[in-house]
This record gives sequence, C-alpha cells and structure tokens, in this order.
Amino acid sequence: MISSRYRDDFPILRDERWEKPLVYLDNACMTLKPKRVVDKLVEYYTQYPGCGGRSLHKITARVTEEFEGAREKVADFLNCPETEGIVFTKNTTESINLVSHSFPFEKGDIVLGTDHEHNSNLVPWLLAEKERGIDYRVLPSSEDHSFDIERFKEEVKGVRLVSMVHVSNLDGRRIPVRDITEIAHDNGAMVFFDCAQSVPHMRLDMTGLDIDLLAFSGHKACGPTGTGVLAGKVDLLRDMKPFIAGGDTVRETTYHSVDFLDPPKRFEAGLQNYAGMIAMGEGLRYLEGIGLEEIERHEKELNRYASNGLPDQVRIRGPEKPEDRGGILPFNITGLNSHDIAMMLDEFSNIEVRSGRHCVHSWFNSREEESTARASFYLYNNKEEVDAFIGTIERIIEDFL
Ligand code: PMP
Repeated sequence: MISSRYRDDFPILRDERWEKPLVYLDNACMTLKPKRVVDKLVEYYTQYPGCGGRSLHKITARVTEEFEGAREKVADFLNCPETEGIVFTKNTTESINLVSHSFPFEKGDIVLGTDHEHNSNLVPWLLAEKERGIDYRVLPSSEDHSFDIERFKEEVKGVRLVSMVHVSNLDGRRIPVRDITEIAHDNGAMVFFDCAQSVPHMRLDMTGLDIDLLAFSGHKACGPTGTGVLAGKVDLLRDMKPFIAGGDTVRETTYHSVDFLDPPKRFEAGLQNYAGMIAMGEGLRYLEGIGLEEIERHEKELNRYASNGLPDQVRIRGPEKPEDRGGILPFNITGLNSHDIAMMLDEFSNIEVRSGRHCVHSWFNSREEESTARASFYLYNNKEEVDAFIGTIERIIEDFL
C-alpha cells in the first residue's frame, strides 16, 4: 500500500505523546501535513520573511519568485488554462464568496445547486438572493440519492450559473462533472464546482473538463491552514468585479477614481499569506510526486476494506458501493449518538473521526435526520488503522448497545 511508503513523512504519526498511536480519520476536514510542507513554512520565515511584489530588494524578489512559483504549481496541478486564472484566497469558503459577490449577475439570474451542498456553497447564494436579486434553486437527488442527470437537463434551462459540490463531504457522492459541464454549456450556463473534496483526492483536469470556475482548500491537500484557491477562466475573471479591494489590486488611483489590475491581482488585496501559499504549492508538489491516481485508488481500497469489515449493526450512509464514496465513510449505529461514537473512538483508541451534520444542515433538516459519524481516509492511512477502527466500533457496540 502507498501508505507504507509515505507514513514517515508525517511526524505526528510517530508522535509518542499517547499510549496508542494516533489514527487520524478526519481527513475530509483537514489533512495532516508532511514535514516538507512544514519545512517550507520555516524556510519562508527564516530565509525570506518579507512581502512580495512591492519592494525592490532581494528579499522581495525571492518571495515573489516563490509565491508566483506556487501559483504556477497550482495551475499545473489543475491543468488550468492560464496561470493568471489562479486566485489565492484563504479557503474554499472565501473563494465561493468571491464568486457570489463578483460574478456578473443580473437581477433574476438563476443559480442551480444540489441538495448536497456544504453551507459554504449554500449560504453565500442565499445571501446573494437577498442582496443581488439572483434566484437560487436546488436540484433534488434521485430516489437512490444519485445525481439526477435527466432532471438536471430540464432544470438547467435558463440557468446562468451551475454551482455544485463535485464530491460531497457528507457521503462522498461524486457528480458527473463532464456531463454536467457539457449540458450546462449547451444551455448557455456557466459552471462552478466546489472541489474541496475532490482536488486533494483525484486527478482533475480543468481544461479537459472545460470547467469555468472551481474552488478548493490547501489545508485539505497537505497544505497549511487558511490557504485556498479560486481557479477560473481568465476571460470570466476579467468580467468579475473585485471582492475585497485595496492595496495591490489597482493599477492607478486618483482621489476619486480607481483602475483595477487584471486577474488574479485584482482579487488579492493587501499583504498576502506568502508563507501559506508557498507551502501550499509544496503540498501539491508532494501529492503529485505520489500520484493522484494512486491516492484515489488507495482511499477506495481502504473504504472497501472498512465498509466490508464493520459489524452488521453499523448502517453505512451514502452511495452503496464503497468505491462510489471515495475516501469517505459516513455511518450511524442505531441507539448511539454520533458524537458519543466519535468521543469513544478518541477516548478508547486515539482514533479521530468527525460527527455531526458536517456543515450540510440543509440535507439533515430535509430528511429530519440527526447526524452521522464520518471516517475519512487519506494516503497515509493503512489497514492496521482500519482494523483498530473496526475493533473499537465492535467494542462500543458490545459495551454500550
Ligand atoms: N465544501 C466542501 C465540500 C467541504 O467539505 C468544505 C470543508 N468541510 C468546504 C466547502 C469548506 O471548506 P473551507 O472550510 O476550507 O472553506
């Protein structure tokens, strides 16, 4: 398994603070950081801790070179048509807010989401309904919870922007991006995908798929916290007004006028998270060195192994086949609260999972369901860890059900 080759890159997995080794299965929330990403942060702070762009000295020259190098890395990683199409933000949420504030909507324009959207790709649109007069609509799933492509073909008519989660953090469901984009474009709509749960886990070819806009977070891809990206076609970004404006976003100002720079600079106001973005680029280099196809295969294998090994009392949620859930394994145990399950996994075996509504409150409310527990796998997890997870769940069921 690839995990045997890469586990040592993650110092926390060798940490002896605890009696039992840490089993980190909360990767959909945030991944662990390999040492070389941490080293890159230290390199910035110790060797060239200045600002990019503005000053004419050698420290700034180095920061600019590293920062723009990270931008090129992101563009290359996504196969984004132009490097200028990569806008640095602090996370997926900020990227989506940028789109909802800046996309050139006209009053009455329709935005179409799914019934699986994270609050970060729902709340900005609910605000835009109030503030910008757009019409936000939700495409329901099929009976079996899969993406309803036939219904999409109907609902997309008259839509201005399709804004959908590529892979759901709720249940790992993956939507057919290629078909959606083709159908949307044939109907004159543009597409934005929330790729927070896909970019770190699979090869995504923005040019090949003809995606107009996408967002992801560096911290879910082995990068530092508070790092994110909005990637887009430059022609479209050029039509979008600045979101947060100020220093570094302008070519020229007078006391009463402003001439904004072209993308991406017009969206990157003020001093940037240089250390973070440079180290985020290092995280993507690391993932590329392993191979996104390898990572995807590994996660699916672990998910299959875990899903098949869990006892019958565990009700696995989301798509039936483990491989249709990628690295995500949501579950309930009837009679036990999901938060209690998560706390017991942590307490008994040092196993970290997530519990609750995973910021998809709307989905739970529409079904009058409480919550789920969620294990999510990444490249460093292995079968021994899954065995520990299954064993602890068996113990919980035996002792508390
Ligand atoms: N969308 C999805 C699908 C997510 O899983 C998350 C994070 N859980 C987000 C958006 C928000 O990401 P961030 O908090 O990094 O902005």
